Amino acid sequence: MTVNRRQFLGAATVGIAGLYAPALVGQAKPRLVVVGGGPGGATVSKYVARDSQGAINVTLVEPEANFVTCFHSNLYLGGYKKFDEITHSYDALTKKYGVNHARKRAVRIDRDAKVVHLDDHSTLSYDRLAIAPGIDLKYDSVPGWGKEFETVMPHAWKAGPQTQILHKRLMEVPDGGVIVMIAPPNPYRCPPGPYERVSMMAHVLKTTGRGKCRIIVLDPKESFSKQGLFQAGWEKYYPGMVEWLGPKIHDGIKSVDPKTNTVVTGFETYKNCALVNVIPAQMAGQIAQEAKLAAPGGYCAIDAASMKSAADPNIYIIGDASIAGDMPKSAFAANSQAKVAANSIRGELTGSRVFPAKYTNTCWSLIDTDDAVKVGGAYEPKDGKISATETYISKVDESADLRKQTQGENMGWYSGIVADMFS
Ligand SMILES: Cc1cc2nc3c(=O)[nH]c(=O)nc-3n(C[C@H](O)[C@H](O)[C@H](O)COP(=O)(O)OP(=O)(O)OC[C@H]3O[C@@H](n4cnc5c(N)ncnc54)[C@H](O)[C@@H]3O)c2cc1C
Repeated sequence: MTVNRRQFLGAATVGIAGLYAPALVGQAKPRLVVVGGGPGGATVSKYVARDSQGAINVTLVEPEANFVTCFHSNLYLGGYKKFDEITHSYDALTKKYGVNHARKRAVRIDRDAKVVHLDDHSTLSYDRLAIAPGIDLKYDSVPGWGKEFETVMPHAWKAGPQTQILHKRLMEVPDGGVIVMIAPPNPYRCPPGPYERVSMMAHVLKTTGRGKCRIIVLDPKESFSKQGLFQAGWEKYYPGMVEWLGPKIHDGIKSVDPKTNTVVTGFETYKNCALVNVIPAQMAGQIAQEAKLAAPGGYCAIDAASMKSAADPNIYIIGDASIAGDMPKSAFAANSQAKVAANSIRGELTGSRVFPAKYTNTCWSLIDTDDAVKVGGAYEPKDGKISATETYISKVDESADLRKQTQGENMGWYSGIVADMFS
C-alpha cells in the first residue's frame, strides 16, 4: 500500500493528537477522582496514572490503608492461604504511579458542580469521576438479622475483619455441629462464591477431624452457578456433610434469631446452630445510591462501550456496582471493565486513542485440594449491553490432571491480577 503525503500528514496528526492533545484546552492538568480502591478503583487509578504519564491528576478516595481481597478469601477459610497473602497495600499506586491516596470516605457527590464531598468535610473537584464502591448489603433482607448482628452471624461478603470472624467461628465449630449458610438472591457479588465457601468449610472440617458436621445451604434461588460441578464435588469429597435446599424445599427463610443461633424456614427450624453465615441481598455501594446513579434494582446502568454511567456523562461506574450485562460481579470482571474505562477516560481528557471495548472474565472455584473448576467468557458491547461472545465451563467428568491444572491457573491468576491492580 502506498501512502500519499496528505494521508501521511493526516495519520501523523492523529498519532500526535493521540499522544499529546489535551481535550480540556486552557485548563491545568485534568483531574480524575476515583471512589473506591478495590479491583475496579485500583485498576482504573493505576492505568490512567501510568499511561497518561502524569498528564492527568489522579486521586483515589479510599478510607483503608490496605485492601483485603474477597477473592481467595475462601482459600483462606480452607487453610490454603494466609490472611497476609490476601492483603495488599496501595503503596505502589502512590509511589510508583503518582496516584494521590485520600484516605477518606466519599459521603456526597455534587454532580452539577462536579465535586466529591469527603467525610472530613473537604472536597475534591473532578473533570471525570470513576466510582467503584463495590456492593452494600441489604441488612433488612433477612428477617431478624441486621448490622448489629453481623459479628454473631457473620456475612464475610466484604473482606477484612468479617473474613477473620468467620474463620475463627469455623475453627470453633465442634464435631457434629450444624452450620447454616443463607445464600443470597441474584444479582450478587461472585455467583460461585457461596458454593466455593461451602466446599472450603467442608474441607477444613473434614481435615480437622470434624467430619460429622453438617453444612445446610438455604438458597432463595432455584439453581446456582456451576451447580452440577459443586454438587458432584460435595458428593465425592464430603459425603453426607453438605445439604443444599432450594426454595421449593425449605419453603422460604422466615427469620433468624441471633441470640439463640436459630434459623426458621417454612419447612424446618434449625436451633442452636454452631455457626450461621448470612449472605444477604446486595446493591451498589451507598455512594452510588446517594448520587442517584443506581437504577431501581439497586445497581447502576452503564454505556457498554465505555463503562460510563447512563445517568451522567462525567462519571464512570466500574465493577460490582454496575449493571454489566452478561458479565458476573467478579474481581476479574471489575479489572477488565476498569481497563476499558481507563482507555475512555484518557481519550476524553488527553485526546489519546480509544480502542473498541473488549471484556473478559474467568471465575475459578476450588472444591478440594488440586480439584478446581472454572466458568468464564469473552464479552463485547452489543445492542446496548455487555454481551457474551464466547463462554466456557468445566465438565463434571474431566480428568484429575485437568482439575489440578485448573487449580494451577487459579493460583497463577491471583498472583497476576493483584500485581496488575496493586504493583
Ligand atoms: C467470598 C468471595 C469470593 C470471591 N471470589 C472471587 C474470585 O475467585 N474471583 C473473582 O474474580 N472475584 C471473586 N469475588 C468477587 C470480587 O471480590 C468482587 O467482585 C470485587 O471485589 C469487586 O470489585 P469492586 O472494585 O467493584 O468492589 P470492592 O472490591 O468491594 O471494592 C470497593 C472499595 O470501595 C471502597 N468504598 C466503598 N464506598 C466508598 C466510599 N463512599 N468512599 C471511599 N471508598 C469507598 C471500599 O472500602 C472498597 O475498598 C469473590 C467475592 C467473595 C465475597
